[in-house]
Amino acid sequence: MRLVRTIAELREALEPHRRETIALVPTMGAFHEGHVSLFRAARAEADVVVVSLFVNPAQFAEDADLNGYPRDEARDVAIAEAAGVDLLFAPAPEEMYPPGFQTWVDVEELGSRLEGVHRPGHFRGVATVCLKLINIVRPQRAYFGQKDAQQVAVLRRMILDLELELELRVLPTVRDGDGLALSSRNARLSPEERERARSLPRALSTKDAQRARELLGDLDVDYVEVADFEPRVLTAAVRVGDTRLIDNVILEGDTE
Ligand code: AMP
Repeated sequence: MRLVRTIAELREALEPHRRETIALVPTMGAFHEGHVSLFRAARAEADVVVVSLFVNPAQFAEDADLNGYPRDEARDVAIAEAAGVDLLFAPAPEEMYPPGFQTWVDVEELGSRLEGVHRPGHFRGVATVCLKLINIVRPQRAYFGQKDAQQVAVLRRMILDLELELELRVLPTVRDGDGLALSSRNARLSPEERERARSLPRALSTKDAQRARELLGDLDVDYVEVADFEPRVLTAAVRVGDTRLIDNVILEGDTE
């Protein structure tokens, strides 16, 4: 595996492979089995697997959240290498957003509800960085987790609206034994908070918004809603202490 820091290096490394199938897996690092499931799927389906590791400042509304985001690059390098990743692209913020940067992709309606209400500008940051990564890597396929169902809906809309030529692959949510969806943010939960966080998957598993709201009664709930994505999901966001967790279950369809 090669670790590359600049767009120029990444483009040069991909140049000999332009006639092969290239897969892109965008991430923010602090890898867990959810990330690894995307790497493995990409490895099985493409000749060249590119993973980006970039804690994208543009998708964080709060500095404290950005600065507190878990980072462990050495560990991530080892995990990506073991999963068969070919190129790990880990740019500095200035590489992606050089001075003068001012062009943004805003998926207006889909990006402004649910997560968008509580994290203004979040999906603008996500869509913009993903479009940049897609333009740099020019993959035939890009891999995302169903865990972030609204992100998938936003990116699917961007791909349609901007005529991007790639296939979006969406993989099932990987969970811990206690049902909690794996998330880099779980590392920040104390044992007592983790215990309380378990009511999130438990509530969603009822597949009933009203019942889920009742079961989440003693957590700080941002929303519990049925969202008409493809597939339709029951989705929720809660705060447990200082940690914000999102999760969803599919109500129909066959992704999971
Ligand atoms: P992140 O590093 O959190 O931005 O996530 C990178 C990719 O991994 C996104 O497409 C996520 O949806 C996906 N992902 C995160 N957690 C999980 C999980 N528990 N299971 C499957 N995919 C996940």
